[in-house]
Amino acid sequence: MKYTMAKKDSESVSEDFLCVKEVTCEWCETVFRFPLKLSIDGSGPNKLAARKNAVENAKIKLPEEPGTERCPSCGALQTCMEASGSALGFGCLTVLMAICLGIAITFGVLVNLHLLTSVSLPVVGWILVALAIPIVLFNIYLARVNPNSELNAGLEEAKTKVAEGKITVVSQPKSVIPESIPRSTGIVPLIAIGLSVIGLCLIPAAEVFRMASGWTAHPFAVPPVAGPGDEVTLNWPNSVNCLKGKWRGIIEVEMTDPVGIHPMTKVDASCSTEQWGNWSGGRGNRNRDTAIWTKVKLPDDAALAGKDVSLHAKILVTYPQSSGLLRFENKEAEFVHDFQMKLSSPKSSTMYFAAWWIGIVGGGGLIALASWLCRLYQLNVVKNSPHPKTLYTKNFAEPDDLVELQ
Ligand SMILES: [Zn+2]
Repeated sequence: MKYTMAKKDSESVSEDFLCVKEVTCEWCETVFRFPLKLSIDGSGPNKLAARKNAVENAKIKLPEEPGTERCPSCGALQTCMEASGSALGFGCLTVLMAICLGIAITFGVLVNLHLLTSVSLPVVGWILVALAIPIVLFNIYLARVNPNSELNAGLEEAKTKVAEGKITVVSQPKSVIPESIPRSTGIVPLIAIGLSVIGLCLIPAAEVFRMASGWTAHPFAVPPVAGPGDEVTLNWPNSVNCLKGKWRGIIEVEMTDPVGIHPMTKVDASCSTEQWGNWSGGRGNRNRDTAIWTKVKLPDDAALAGKDVSLHAKILVTYPQSSGLLRFENKEAEFVHDFQMKLSSPKSSTMYFAAWWIGIVGGGGLIALASWLCRLYQLNVVKNSPHPKTLYTKNFAEPDDLVELQ
């Protein structure tokens, strides 16, 4: 038993409870008993109230928990035990996928806000695919695995526990002992498996669409493809060490062919226009390496589709740099860079951008939904299958106080 201070005026306790479960095997009608120990939390305004609350919670939770002991006559795991374990597994997979999806969405937003330039959208997409593959495979495994397909191993395990006194046989089998018990996979888990596979295929939609269209990806551009009429962000290879990541620039971009034969054409471009006063302070008041970015609007000329272009960019960056506590000075830096690009179809960046978000949110969401549906299905199986009886419960905190629940 341990006590923890949850809030200033409330306490929470975690106490160990012990109960005895009595199972009548669904398949051979053997009656057996085993002890089940659970740690249950309780909270309240003081220690006594918290412990009373834990006892109340135990009265609800102990009968709900079926345990995981196999029948010592046939070796089978009862339906509610199996479904309860599966429901827990599917719940973990749902949470895991939701976390992965949340990380991918956060990265996507940071890349689009120019706050993350070391990772590109395709890389974020492929990382999510790599994280989602084991989740989908485990989802399929959990939905398909039959713990009663081979009963011999389970029987050996249960017999050992009987010999050790961990399981007690109350009455011998009344029905024929089965050799194996088929597990029926309901329609919901099958639909869920389909959804998770579709979700997995959907995540890299933007990249598959790009490759199928023959569009060239540029790691420095967000989105990585650009066509005539598109607006894209270009991340410079340069960065400045500026106070709180603040900078502004004056940008000029001209476009020509890679060899530079064609005359330069001016391209609409913009960049950060941040302003800062004469005072600095507050949180994060330090210099940090900050990537320079430029937004360009490519000429809306369909004839440029599929052409190689060179974007000759020149930027004059002004940024504050800390020179001691609460002091900074404005500095300037000029950078010149040629961004080599192969333009794709008109509006390709808009299409890529939409496909990327649909793939990540839709695909990742489908996988999480699939695990969640399987969990709901298994919880329903638990609810509708016979449960072991809960005979006695004992609170470890009060060893002499044996409470009968029924
Ligand atoms: Zn049995």
